[in-house]
Amino acid sequence: MLILKKISEVRDWVRRKSSKGGQIGLVPTMGYLHEGHLSLARAARRENDFVIMSIFVNPLQFGANEDLDTYPRDLKRDSQLAAAAGVDAIFAPEVSEMYPYYPQLTTVNVTEITEVLCGAVRPGHFSGVATVVTKLFNIVQPDRAYFGQKDYQQCLVIKRMVADLNMPVEIKMVPIVREKDGLAMSSRNVYLSEEERRQALCLYEALRICRELYDKGERSARELLDAVQDRIRQEPLAAIDYAEICSAELLQEVDEIKENVVVALAVRIGSTRLIDNIVLEGDTGV
Ligand code: AMP
Repeated sequence: MLILKKISEVRDWVRRKSSKGGQIGLVPTMGYLHEGHLSLARAARRENDFVIMSIFVNPLQFGANEDLDTYPRDLKRDSQLAAAAGVDAIFAPEVSEMYPYYPQLTTVNVTEITEVLCGAVRPGHFSGVATVVTKLFNIVQPDRAYFGQKDYQQCLVIKRMVADLNMPVEIKMVPIVREKDGLAMSSRNVYLSEEERRQALCLYEALRICRELYDKGERSARELLDAVQDRIRQEPLAAIDYAEICSAELLQEVDEIKENVVVALAVRIGSTRLIDNIVLEGDTGV
């Protein structure tokens, strides 16, 4: 497994691989890998000649009171897992390599779809994401880049940025990987105590109840969200950041579900903030 720390090393590696006509898949991550990340890597492996994974805890996307300093890191373990999933190279730069000028004077800002859901409670977060992903795209120049549905809004923001700015990369969204009991895998799950881990299941349970009601014909967003909130409020350690039903493309609030929608949750379990979502296919389809 090749571990590249410098941008110049990545550029050299990419030049060698693409000069032979190889297509390159990029998997951006913040590391502390789990099966969710590895499913992105495997998808990239299937669809490209070469796979590079970035591991970078991006300070620009963390708020002042968030977990930047405590975010779990283990490059040695990550490189073993990534190699087993078929990753050819890891790009793991220092902050000073990615941001020689900090703060940067240039950032990338996607409007509207970044102002709701996570964007409303984490100001600046998506600007940090869009900026670092743009930098990674410029450094690697991949043919395809892989993102998880777990961060549905992030995926949408990147897709829209790529479309709006004519970036020559195909964005792939990979389904959510869950633990056996349904909890969406996340690097932040390690923060949970045993009791918190038990109560964290309420996100998945709430979404499951929502889908069941929808499958039985319920189309009122209010009714569905009441059921979602009722389930989450059964857990004493759970505090809802948001629970919303939005149009799948523009993330606009909907009252009556006619088109594809995303049911998106952010819930604090103790001090750990977890997100999850499902997409409900509208009757007319989009
Ligand atoms: P992170 O390291 O948390 O920034 O995640 C890196 C990428 O992995 C993002 O595109 C995430 O959406 C994706 N990802 C994280 N958890 C999961 C999961 N449980 N299932 C699928 N993709 C995931």
